Amino acid sequence: MITLALSKGRIFDDSLPLLAAAGIEVLDDPEKSRKLILATNRSDLRVVLVRATDVPTYVQHGGADLGVAGLDVLLEHGAEHSAGGAGGNAGLYRPLDLRIARCRMSVATREDFDYAAAVRQGSRIRVATKYTQAARQHFAAKGVHVDLIKLYGSMELAPLTGLADAIVDLVSTGSTLKANRLVEVERIMDISSRLVVNAAALKVKREPLRALIDAFERAVEAQR
Ligand code: ATP
Ligand code: MG
Repeated sequence: MITLALSKGRIFDDSLPLLAAAGIEVLDDPEKSRKLILATNRSDLRVVLVRATDVPTYVQHGGADLGVAGLDVLLEHGAEHSAGGAGGNAGLYRPLDLRIARCRMSVATREDFDYAAAVRQGSRIRVATKYTQAARQHFAAKGVHVDLIKLYGSMELAPLTGLADAIVDLVSTGSTLKANRLVEVERIMDISSRLVVNAAALKVKREPLRALIDAFERAVEAQR
């Protein structure tokens, strides 16, 4: 049996066309069913639904053989689990950029905050984000002094309430920022979802996993 970890919502929805192109059909609709294990048209393949941030954990520890996770999630996971010297994404093989759930990680502030001036003057900037590892790296590389405030959601609220001067968040169309009168002042990196595979599973179940990875690769190329 091969177990594929997906998260509900954007990643599940954007993975469906790639799965279809690989000849795989998921037999339950996660929005209608409460099941966490979904059957597919292939008796040797099942889908497990986990939180987006839990996908690397499932795949790394063998709860799933492979999964789909955003680069944002993989970067945070890798940095948070790297204590003790071992690479935080050790055992996680990352063969493929699936080019789905695309967006960018950016710095945003209130319209009336002069980010460029704050950076130029070497001020300490308070930054609220879910992505503390990526944010820390970004500002360190720029030589900007920041106080990072970890949040788990609704980052847009932070500059509006005075919790922070800036946020680091994912942006796609920019409409959420606009609705909250925030402006994107710096693009940190482009984000898309990646296929991640358990390295040990790739040895034990080499043929079926290789076939799946190859099918996904062809599907990604076909959709470019
Ligand atoms: P949860 O909603 O369960 O707290 P989450 O916010 O990480 O978790 P999603 O909103 O489904 O879950 O996001 C999953 C992934 O989709 C993110 O890790 C990111 O890679 C990508 N993503 C997030 N926001 C956007 C966006 N605005 N546009 C495109 N892709 C996005
Ligand atoms: Mg979300």
